[in-house]
Amino acid sequence: MRIAVAEIVQETGSFSPMAADLKDFEPYGLFFGDEIFERVPDAGPIGGFREIAAQQKTPVIQLPLVRAWGGAGGTITSATFDFLSRELSERLRAAMPVDAVFLSLHGAAASENEDDVEGSLLEDVRRIVGPTTPIVVAVDHHANITRRMVENANALIGHETQPHDPKETGRKAAGILFRMLNDGLRVTVAWQKIPMITPQDQFLTSQGPMKEWFDLARSMERRARVVDVSPYPMQPWLDVREGGWAVVVHTDNDLPLAQSLAAEMARAAWSRRAEFWRSERVAAADAVRQAATVDSGLVILSDTGDSVYGGAPGDSTVILSELVRQNVPTLTLVPLIDPHALEAALKTGVGSRFEAEVGARIDARYYKPVRIVGRVAAVSQGVTVELPERGVCDIGRAALIEVGQVRLVLIEDRTFAINHPVLYWHLGLDVAAARGVVVKTASNFQFFAPWRTRLIRVDSPGMTQSDLTAFTWKRTPRPIYPFDPIENWKPE
Ligand SMILES: [Zn+2]
Repeated sequence: MRIAVAEIVQETGSFSPMAADLKDFEPYGLFFGDEIFERVPDAGPIGGFREIAAQQKTPVIQLPLVRAWGGAGGTITSATFDFLSRELSERLRAAMPVDAVFLSLHGAAASENEDDVEGSLLEDVRRIVGPTTPIVVAVDHHANITRRMVENANALIGHETQPHDPKETGRKAAGILFRMLNDGLRVTVAWQKIPMITPQDQFLTSQGPMKEWFDLARSMERRARVVDVSPYPMQPWLDVREGGWAVVVHTDNDLPLAQSLAAEMARAAWSRRAEFWRSERVAAADAVRQAATVDSGLVILSDTGDSVYGGAPGDSTVILSELVRQNVPTLTLVPLIDPHALEAALKTGVGSRFEAEVGARIDARYYKPVRIVGRVAAVSQGVTVELPERGVCDIGRAALIEVGQVRLVLIEDRTFAINHPVLYWHLGLDVAAARGVVVKTASNFQFFAPWRTRLIRVDSPGMTQSDLTAFTWKRTPRPIYPFDPIENWKPE
């Protein structure tokens, strides 16, 4: 059994001032052919696929094509998209004949010349392998599901949780693929677009309306002949032609069942639209005042407008400037991406006084640099750490600046470690001694869970801000909730 395997993942933020090119993919590993399994043998959806492939009775010949993982960032340049799609097509053609294709795609990638990156890639793959070869895709559930994606894949299997478990999604998708190949499973697909965009505040699947919606999908999956129910609450910073929420239902050769469940899922989301829109945001000045009163445990201050995992630049000064202005009395950890200030701190040297304007280096539309006066407490000339959650992670150079009770870590790049305790550990800081930490994410708080006593979602402006009405939307189809009044919407 010959199965082609590829991963092209990037989450595009349409409101980012940065363009994404191959340099955005290289730090995470941009690999081709056999190099892929040598370098990333068991991570992510492909790792999950490989686990299931290894359990098959018939030997599976895995044909690795392309692995490009770019995190979240700005719109992909035309040249980068053309390069990646050409590599995928040419390598797939060279690998033919194949019995199936397993892909890991984000689903919310857009390039300068293509609103629907995944739809285009899937169309190419379908053209090459023909109409009867199964194509199964593991997709991030923040995807924007499009007509071309549905028409050119046999199954689009989304993550079951936020924070995500990509490997588990890979296992689930692979299980379906092997049932198609070995047991004659005939996957039938129905899907629904839902005219909604909502902010990240209610995106966790462990609570609130998102939990109810995802629980409904899981309960449907326990019914006979239901293969998979994948809800897709699209990430809210994607301004593209087919933008909006969706649901995709896969059944065992039962189209009416798939259609009725897709409609039921769509109605369930639509009827909760006001709950999904509900915000828990606190103004930065109030958030800092509240955090300052804590005397045990750790308050997580979520910098919602500057979510690096959502594609933002990580250089917002909104919370930092409040911490400095209020001279916060409790030990508070703050990360900031500013290569220029970092360079100056490294030159200044450990133990010396440090005075500088920091932040707002990449995105000065929403916030301004802030002046700090402190001391360089520690520096690192660049370190690569092994994280169980992610694999290898390059932190790059870093400097720890003490500004009163603020412990500011300056870094040069958008590393995964920015929301991880390792950022502070590697500079000799004890996270348990801190009472506050600023995280540049609105969802991935799990790395600080052992110390967490409270979470405050700070209403900070930026390209990942929760106030979606403040952006200028150009391409998203209208009418759409919550921007337009929609009377009596019903699924098709
Ligand atoms: Zn996601």
